[in-house]
Amino acid sequence: MSILGQCPKCGHRVLHVNVEQVVGVVDGESKARCLCYSCIHCNTVLGVQIDPRAKPRPRRKAETASH
Ligand SMILES: [Zn+2]
Repeated sequence: MSILGQCPKCGHRVLHVNVEQVVGVVDGESKARCLCYSCIHCNTVLGVQIDPRAKPRPRRKAETASH
């Protein structure tokens, strides 16, 4: 079993991705920094996630940093 990630649009192997910082917006309000990954060949967005390096949200006070 091998893992061969392919861009769903252009079919290139996904060996590199463009990483952009974007902002997650909820109801028109900026809520969190996110990272957007796009194909370097055709710029198709492959995924977006919350930026793990962003400062933790102050709302989450029950948990201490455990990871
Ligand atoms: Zn592509």
